[in-house]
Amino acid sequence: MLTGGCHCGAIRYVAADTPDRHSVCHCTDCRRSAGAPMVTWAVYAASDVRVTKGQPKVRASSEHGRRHFCPDCGTGLFYTNEAFLPGLIDVQTATLDEPDQVMAPSAQVQVAERIGWMSEAHTLQAFDRYPG
Ligand SMILES: [Zn+2]
Ligand SMILES: [Zn+2]
Repeated sequence: MLTGGCHCGAIRYVAADTPDRHSVCHCTDCRRSAGAPMVTWAVYAASDVRVTKGQPKVRASSEHGRRHFCPDCGTGLFYTNEAFLPGLIDVQTATLDEPDQVMAPSAQVQVAERIGWMSEAHTLQAFDRYPG
């Protein structure tokens, strides 16, 4: 099993080792809810993910979309949509304790809404820490 949780530790969860798929989403809703230029999501059957500590708060981010986050620190954790993704749950994989343990994402989605410079982000000069 994979383990994860929010930044403050109030919410903890476990998820099966292998999701149905894992992708990078560039949509505006994900960006705003995460405060980040993209969000990585792993899709699971709802029964393959279990909250083991705390109680996420659920917010309707669209007519059917529900974003589950820590009410104490604000970390986004899950997404559900019973109209379009019945019985499934998306997990924000950057909240895993060991994000490299889940299979690498296989696609980028909602690229139509991607921030322009994100298409070149992989070409930026890289530093192990901060530049000296
Ligand atoms: Zn928290
Ligand atoms: Zn999205």
